[in-house]
Amino acid sequence: MDMRACAAPDTILHGSESAGWMKKMRGCRIRGFFVTVYDVSEEIDPEKIARVKRILDGEGFETWGIGLPVGHPAGLDTPRFTYHEGWHVRRDIDGNECRWCNAVTDRLIRDARERVLILRELGIPVMFWDDDLRAGNYEGDVQGCFCSECLAKFVRAYPEFDRKDFGRETLRPVLKKDPAGLSEEELALREAWMDFISAGITRFMRETTVEGVRNGIMVMHRGDRRHGIDIPAIRKACPGCLFRVGELMFDDRSFEAPGNKRALAEGVLRHMALMGDPERIWSESTVYPHGALTPENLRKKIVLERKCGLRNINLMGVERMNSDAYYEMLEKNVRAFEETEPCLTPGNLDGFDFETL
Ligand SMILES: [Zn+2]
Repeated sequence: MDMRACAAPDTILHGSESAGWMKKMRGCRIRGFFVTVYDVSEEIDPEKIARVKRILDGEGFETWGIGLPVGHPAGLDTPRFTYHEGWHVRRDIDGNECRWCNAVTDRLIRDARERVLILRELGIPVMFWDDDLRAGNYEGDVQGCFCSECLAKFVRAYPEFDRKDFGRETLRPVLKKDPAGLSEEELALREAWMDFISAGITRFMRETTVEGVRNGIMVMHRGDRRHGIDIPAIRKACPGCLFRVGELMFDDRSFEAPGNKRALAEGVLRHMALMGDPERIWSESTVYPHGALTPENLRKKIVLERKCGLRNINLMGVERMNSDAYYEMLEKNVRAFEETEPCLTPGNLDGFDFETL
């Protein structure tokens, strides 16, 4: 079992200066760190990344990159956006700006690719894009960017739908979550729109894949083509691609709510079936906000992930679980995690008692 923790460079630098921090990480068999190397609101100095890598190399840990290319500002709780030239805020079907979700534009892809080339120079072997890499927020209808620029781009790509009054109101009825009752022509438009928004994310993955740095995408819980996430297309475009499943349930309230453990398992199994070899798949063992999922519930979450067949555990993130109780729990249970065999399938979830983890 490979366990990794996600952290910002500051956390690593700060942690490395605290007595016993590295020993604590090793004690719970954390093999490496995903270090934030790219986000939308600030440039992270490559020298800082190199310094973090040197510290981790010296301590025997691996350093992998994690980037937040599309939506997350520097602080997850900061209600602001920062954009670069050639980027724009995604607009929803009503024309309103979407929080934490830019549109995937040519320039955004180019900027992200340049970042990966810097990482290659620094010897970072893996780059994982956070689950803000999508064309829609959690659940709901088929999404995408409905600004005039993106709508014009769509009809250029699909001229069969080009007509004088084409716009958000043409799309609104056909993009509802439930496609029941749509005509053949409306279904064709729906599919074309999903192809269009998914092509943007797939292209991002293809063009940020460079030799020497393995690329990966973190998929949002229940993320699919409604949000521009076409897992089979991404696999085809990037054959060695890594994936992270989407789990949500980052706090006790959602994890303990009736039916949610099953929903978590269902979502994980659905993603795993599309992603392929378990060796390339990572969990979303997130605690958010700080301390919101107790160590005991994180333990249960990891057991559930293991029962789904996940072998690689991604502890997101260190800032959110920086109390000793988490590391004591991990150290005490790492063997039990490793010994937990996969046993859940989409067909046997009804017979499983999710309260006995
Ligand atoms: Zn747009």
